[in-house]
Amino acid sequence: MVKFKNRNAGKKIAILGGGLCGRLLAWRIASISSMETVDNGIIEDIGIKNIELHVFEKGSLNPNLNTTDKASAFTAAAMLSPSSELVSSELEIFQLGQRSLTLWPKWLKQINGQQYFHQRGSLVIAHPNDLAELRQFEKDLRFKLQQLSTKQPSTKQIKTSQYQLIQSQQQLNVLEPNLGNHFQQGLFLQDEAHIDHHPVLNKLIEEAQVLDVQFHQHQPMDIDDPKLSDFDLIFDCRGFGSKQSSNDQAQIRGVRGEVIWLESKEITLTRPIRIMHPRYKLYLVPKPNNQFMIGATEIESEDQSPISLRSSMELMSALYAINPAFSEARILYQDQNLRPAYFDNLPKIQQSESKRQQPVISINGLYRHGYLIGPALIEQAIEKVFS
Ligand SMILES: Cc1cc2nc3c(=O)[nH]c(=O)nc-3n(C[C@H](O)[C@H](O)[C@H](O)COP(=O)(O)OP(=O)(O)OC[C@H]3O[C@@H](n4cnc5c(N)ncnc54)[C@H](O)[C@@H]3O)c2cc1C
Repeated sequence: MVKFKNRNAGKKIAILGGGLCGRLLAWRIASISSMETVDNGIIEDIGIKNIELHVFEKGSLNPNLNTTDKASAFTAAAMLSPSSELVSSELEIFQLGQRSLTLWPKWLKQINGQQYFHQRGSLVIAHPNDLAELRQFEKDLRFKLQQLSTKQPSTKQIKTSQYQLIQSQQQLNVLEPNLGNHFQQGLFLQDEAHIDHHPVLNKLIEEAQVLDVQFHQHQPMDIDDPKLSDFDLIFDCRGFGSKQSSNDQAQIRGVRGEVIWLESKEITLTRPIRIMHPRYKLYLVPKPNNQFMIGATEIESEDQSPISLRSSMELMSALYAINPAFSEARILYQDQNLRPAYFDNLPKIQQSESKRQQPVISINGLYRHGYLIGPALIEQAIEKVFS
């Protein structure tokens, strides 16, 4: 818990970074503080009252999607896929993901954005030549789910309900009629979801502004900036932007990801499709207005230059293989960004102090899981600071 000089006095809070974490945090603190009472007055007790909240963003809050200088929140696919990610990540990510899957619909309802949340599952498929990859994926997933139910007996149910094996082209086509006819097997992960993230990112700001949060764009800020001298508390949500800052104890790194946005009126998909591949984690995500996003490369590099020819060709040929009708799709734009990650690819909520001894809470390292785990992490941070 943060030690404020006077817990009961009004508080001036700064949030550095207006990407995914910054927006979620600003809206959530403001919405809690605007509630009259929650569960017989707990809100009063945890001290989120009489606050003045400012968000400082280095770039534009509504960036041109074609520009390189923007939050990685805009480049993301915004899949909420705890089970698919479990195969290559820690159980902690799965647990935070499960919690976020329950928080997203509630929070989106509060900002009148429930139409942007789609829980229709996701589908993992493989070309006939890569079926060994699919089988291995299923084995790994089964093993991880078993591990989880041993560690946490209360989650035993999870093991059996998390996915369904698809054994024929007909079964696949019932779920996704527009998949190419050479796909014969797959896994259906029925609890997974995805978000139309661009409107959600805008909505979070609009609703936070209604609750008196003040947003300042084109204002790069460091925790020791003199403009922050009269703030009682600073949240650092700068993602990769906090690299080499004095409070970056665990040393954030950037992991490059490249994606392509397309439009096709001929193809309809209802859920994200993951395509097993020996070298890449490829996925195709349906977006509003006949748009699709194919991604994503994952390269240990902090290079922020445009997508390479090689990545572009590999993503596009994967797309063509899903359904040759994609050859007539229009390329809207190609994009790349850096996922903010720590050495262990796990998120961290850390407390430190500015040179003026103001408490600083940093929420960072969300890596490839910002949407998947964001709400649960913000919930934990708020509890840590105010309860
Ligand atoms: C290709 C790709 C695909 C992805 N797909 C998914 C997915 O499907 N599902 C999922 O859950 N996650 C996904 N992610 C990950 C997700 O985008 C990130 O985890 C998430 O955006 C991290 O949130 P953040 O707020 O920490 O950082 P960001 O969203 O990057 O926001 C940081 C903000 O801080 C600002 N900033 C930086 N420096 C300063 C400064 N000095 N002063 C003020 N502001 C500053 C930046 O301009 C930016 O707006 C993907 C990421 C990429 C790159």
